[in-house]
Amino acid sequence: MDAHLFLTLYIGIIGLLVGSFANVCVHRIPRGESVVSPRSQCPNCQHLIAWYDNLPILSWLLLGRKCRYCKHPIAWRYPLLELTMGLMWASIVWFYPVQSYNPVFLAQAISLVTLLWILTLIDLETFLLPNALTFPGIALGLAFAAYFDFFLDSLIGAVAGYGIFWLVARLFLMFTGKEGMGQGDFKLLAMLGAYMGWQAIPFIILLSSLTGAVIGSMALIISKKGLRAEIPFGPYLAAAGVIWFFWSAPILHWYQGLFM
Ligand SMILES: [Zn+2]
Repeated sequence: MDAHLFLTLYIGIIGLLVGSFANVCVHRIPRGESVVSPRSQCPNCQHLIAWYDNLPILSWLLLGRKCRYCKHPIAWRYPLLELTMGLMWASIVWFYPVQSYNPVFLAQAISLVTLLWILTLIDLETFLLPNALTFPGIALGLAFAAYFDFFLDSLIGAVAGYGIFWLVARLFLMFTGKEGMGQGDFKLLAMLGAYMGWQAIPFIILLSSLTGAVIGSMALIISKKGLRAEIPFGPYLAAAGVIWFFWSAPILHWYQGLFM
């Protein structure tokens, strides 16, 4: 088998396994519980789950999508998160240029996408972006930046990311008397700034606000209740961050083309 395909499959399988662990994170971190102990339990009957019942996707199919002990249906989120994680890890390896087989390069991309995906799911479910994920994310972003020699850009990105949103939130509160963004959003933008440098910040703010406004008003029209559908802002930030991380070169190229 050719080496590129082998590495893609190999990393994809590790992604599946990490996806299984990510399910634990999504469930436990917002509740302030430990992600290592106790071992995986059925959320319904609390029975410990044996390793052979905890294989990504496979166990879910073999068990007929039900808990072995209490027969409570297993939520779709579990296999779905495992599958998306496996696919994301595999596609990062598959689409990265072969000449850049730098493991640090892959670790940077994979850690960013994984953190953002877990944060997105937690934010959608609980409207929280836990420090237990954003703080290590900021530290990792700075560490990768130091390795790739853009530490100063990264540090400015983290500070500016936090500072800009903090300022926007203060002004929003001053003029409307309402809380707009949450603290978690400041830290998420700081994390994105740390991973990609301050240059990413304007694009991420612009794209996330635009998509947030468009999808927010669409949700408003669809819901027809005259109620503003509450959608957290974290997923928009995460999506804009991923787009900049992988496609900043073509985006900048296109942007410059507009003025040539
Ligand atoms: Zn059960």
